[in-house]
Amino acid sequence: RLPILREVEKEVANIRVRNVATVGGNLASGEPLTDLPQVFIALDARLKIASAGGERVMPLEELYVDYYQTRLAEDEIITQVVVPPLPGRSGIEYIRFSSSSVVDKPCVGVATRVTLGPDRKTCESVRIVLGCVAPTPVRARKAEGLLAGKPLDPKLLEEAASLAAGECHPLSDLRGSEPYKRAVVGVLVKRAFPRAYERAQQG
Ligand SMILES: Cc1cc2nc3c(=O)[nH]c(=O)nc-3n(C[C@H](O)[C@H](O)[C@H](O)COP(=O)(O)OP(=O)(O)OC[C@H]3O[C@@H](n4cnc5c(N)ncnc54)[C@H](O)[C@@H]3O)c2cc1C
Repeated sequence: RLPILREVEKEVANIRVRNVATVGGNLASGEPLTDLPQVFIALDARLKIASAGGERVMPLEELYVDYYQTRLAEDEIITQVVVPPLPGRSGIEYIRFSSSSVVDKPCVGVATRVTLGPDRKTCESVRIVLGCVAPTPVRARKAEGLLAGKPLDPKLLEEAASLAAGECHPLSDLRGSEPYKRAVVGVLVKRAFPRAYERAQQG
């Protein structure tokens, strides 16, 4: 139902890490340099969270507070990740870029999702989620708002990519300087969104 998850999973870390790491641990760690949070946020995933006191449900987007900080209480664990079915005429694409080696943690990861209107051209609903470029995953809401309600064209895409690059807060570190990471965000939005759009047109 969601081939994107298989595609992304293949690129996470290396085979040794993938053999032991869990989806719950990846989401709960609050580590900014991960891949899964932005993909699941783009899919509007919700978490089922359990503790001795009972169960609650939280949109994944609301989980993150700051570097390695989440809204989970000490006695709570994530027991399920619930992904609503994608509506018809939807497409999703995730692209991660690693600036040192392919098995390194990502320098930037961009998840894009679009649902098209009945004309298969107008973007009805848009998600652009930026990873690794702030303490928590970032919804590029200005870029999403610009694309929503319009058919995609190269000028619009350029503007959306530039807005998204301005909506994150990257730190300069060994994976790249702040301006470099912003530039990578723009490039990845320009690569990922048209692929999601194309998939939506076929869906
Ligand atoms: C060398 C290396 C490279 C990596 N590269 C990437 C990468 O490229 N992309 C990427 O996305 N990730 C990457 N990771 C992170 C990795 O994929 C795992 O997400 C991470 O190591 C957590 O592993 P784990 O599932 O065993 O959780 P643990 O290490 O067991 O737990 C992590 C934290 O989450 C808590 N926790 C675990 N499970 C739950 C749960 N169900 N509910 C609530 N809290 C929970 C734990 O208490 C702990 O605080 C990398 C990790 C390493 C070591």
